[in-house]
Amino acid sequence: MKEPVPAECPPPPAPGAERYPALDLANSAIALPGGQFTDLLGTPAAANQWLTERDLAPVDAGLREVCAAQLRSLREQIRALLASRVDGHPAPSSALASVNDALTRAPAASLLHWDPVRGLYRAAAHPTTQILDHALATLAANAADLLTGPDAERLAACGSAPCNRYLLRTGRRHWCSTRCGDRARAARAYARRTQSSTD
Ligand SMILES: [Zn+2]
Repeated sequence: MKEPVPAECPPPPAPGAERYPALDLANSAIALPGGQFTDLLGTPAAANQWLTERDLAPVDAGLREVCAAQLRSLREQIRALLASRVDGHPAPSSALASVNDALTRAPAASLLHWDPVRGLYRAAAHPTTQILDHALATLAANAADLLTGPDAERLAACGSAPCNRYLLRTGRRHWCSTRCGDRARAARAYARRTQSSTD
């Protein structure tokens, strides 16, 4: 009987992700070998934990699915901008609009309301909404800094299929982790072997 293949745990943060939470966000849906896929923001609890680990939300922020979905959506827009930067393509206008929308989320003011019983009154937005807006604005600003700063030159996509992570290159290293580097070298060696056997 075949042993079940253990689920591969996600690799450590890619080079640069420790300095750029936006890069870390972009890498939070990870394609693993064997068609596996890990989404670190897949559930509200996971998204809350991801934000807490980056000092962007308290442990008990009470994120709901709608909040996690907003984070995942910003991630896709940031990934689109990273891809356009790496490939030298024009930045997609929808991604620019979404990131700018997150960037300009003002710290929620207590807004003016009216209802027939209370008349005019002011009320703060839901605390979770405030936390989420702050986190989205912080991550969007960080992405903008990364994409327009000197480190943008070093942005690269991991060169080890099927990995979909981005990294900041140091030297000629083009993969996000030693695991990806080992896999890329093994794939090259395999390609050389199969090529020489067909010669
Ligand atoms: Zn990789």
